[in-house]
Amino acid sequence: MSPRIALIAHDKKKDDMIALAAVYLDFLRTCTLSATGTTGARLIKELGLVVERKHSGPFGGDLQIGSMLVEGQIDCVIFLRDPMTPQPHEPDINALVRACDVHNVACATNVASAHLLLSQLVARAAPSA
Ligand code: PGA
Repeated sequence: MSPRIALIAHDKKKDDMIALAAVYLDFLRTCTLSATGTTGARLIKELGLVVERKHSGPFGGDLQIGSMLVEGQIDCVIFLRDPMTPQPHEPDINALVRACDVHNVACATNVASAHLLLSQLVARAAPSA
């Protein structure tokens, strides 16, 4: 089954998310993607990806992604957090990251770890020689 990946980026990290997704575009087209509202809108508009959009993060989108994860519907999370800007929905962010830990779901919270995670998924998806 193709990986089910959640993509979330705080405002100052959205350009990074678009650049990251562009690198893995062919692979991401084979995945089932969900995203918070604004992140998803940009992925759809700028990269043409098919994404299930949830509410925007501050309006509960992180919690919706967390709920999917708890239901077993998410295999990994790319969550580019902005550690330098206070977020009004900090409790929701913590809840999502906690849910990843509770359910042992891979969660990359910065670009470097996102590259490691996505490149591993690409390698796993490649047909073995
Ligand atoms: P957004 O939400 O994609 O709607 O901006 C992300 C967040 O702030 O958690």
